[in-house]
Amino acid sequence: LNSTDLTLHDLNHEFPTSNDDTHSSLFNHDDLVQINSLRNDTKSKIRESLRVIASQLNVYHLNQLSISYNGGKDCLVLLILYLSQLATTTTTDNNNNSNKNFSKKPLLDSIYINYEHNFSDLDSFIDASTLSYHLHLTNYSCDLIQGFRNYLSKFPSKKAILIGVRKNDPYSQHLNFVQNTDNNWPSFIRINPILNWNLKNIWFFILFLKINYCSLYNLGYTSLGGTNSTIKNPNLLKIKFALLNHSNNSSIQKYFTHLYNKNNKNNLDFIPINDPLQDHYPAFFLQNDLLERAGRFKPF
Ligand code: ATP
Repeated sequence: LNSTDLTLHDLNHEFPTSNDDTHSSLFNHDDLVQINSLRNDTKSKIRESLRVIASQLNVYHLNQLSISYNGGKDCLVLLILYLSQLATTTTTDNNNNSNKNFSKKPLLDSIYINYEHNFSDLDSFIDASTLSYHLHLTNYSCDLIQGFRNYLSKFPSKKAILIGVRKNDPYSQHLNFVQNTDNNWPSFIRINPILNWNLKNIWFFILFLKINYCSLYNLGYTSLGGTNSTIKNPNLLKIKFALLNHSNNSSIQKYFTHLYNKNNKNNLDFIPINDPLQDHYPAFFLQNDLLERAGRFKPF
């Protein structure tokens, strides 16, 4: 995987690129200004996150690190950034030898705590992505704190865990990129590289780079909890959505729709945005970060 190069290289081109010229008539001048502003903003967020990850790869050996991965969109972005940085960073192996070739270490340690009854689509996505990204996923069925406690006692070498938390998540406004756990959490260093990302950056990254994501997001779920605690985001209900004034966001919606259609050109399971069987718009239509968890009854 070499998505760092891909990201930085491709993002350096203003939209529309030569490949997209045929679609340029879809977008007016104001659209292009907004799209390119989001592209630049995402580019600087990517750089910031990669800097955080790179700095921690200088502090910790790979066997001291893990990534907290539950198949959600935020940790998916984090995972791609982590893999990208690993592919370009000189890491140090257990014997303190310089190890430039990450491909010799195909399994990336990760922890998943399954504390609710999952949607089967999420289970399938976790299975598929665990395989395709070569994760060594340790899975616990208990509450989050107990899960981390179990993980750290099973793998005492682990010192720091990458987490896909963002400042708009509950209780996360004052988090730092790197900090120790507090309160009754087991002690480890939390590395939070994507703190400053917004929903728009997440979806730009995923759609622009054609990254496979859990299919529930296409149905209108914007944040994924268990089946008993998660519904489709009510703010994406098509009838309601049409009544609200979303003109400020329409350029980005238009662009995301363009990418979604383009990415799914050959996908037999493709759900068109205006499919009459779907009563909600896909997750990437939501631009307001404060509404992201409106479909979740438990924040965590
Ligand atoms: P979404 O909000 O769309 O479900 P997400 O799960 O990636 O995406 P959050 O729910 O905001 O994001 O959780 C923030 C981060 O906390 C995740 O990215 C992941 O790193 C970590 N995390 C949350 N729940 C779990 C879990 N059950 N197991 C492992 N890690 C988790």
